[in-house]
Amino acid sequence: MALKYSNKINKIRSIALGLVFAGMIIMYIGLFFRETEWLMLSFMILGVLAIGLSTVIYFWIGMLSTRAVPVECPSCGKQTKMLGRVDACMFCKEPLTLDKDLEGKEFDEKYNSKQYQKEQES
Ligand SMILES: [Zn+2]
Repeated sequence: MALKYSNKINKIRSIALGLVFAGMIIMYIGLFFRETEWLMLSFMILGVLAIGLSTVIYFWIGMLSTRAVPVECPSCGKQTKMLGRVDACMFCKEPLTLDKDLEGKEFDEKYNSKQYQKEQES
């Protein structure tokens, strides 16, 4: 079963990669406004900000990875990393959980939310 949901670390990584490209495209667009200095400068600054932000995100992924739990995917047998109570395999998107109570239940991202956990406890 293909999930719309994908592995969190992979997802964040693709956002960061997207930002690098966005930053480059923004700076490239800026070159078209060479005659209007302030406009070109604004594009350049925006581009640099996007790339700077992606660097921060990459740094954040690095920190998240150290907290991620390495598990062997029961479906494809590869080593994957998961974050939170529920996550998906990086390779085959098999839903994974660390929580025995959630085993066999339909995959839902809400299990990761703090609000939901609070509701369950009360
Ligand atoms: Zn897998």
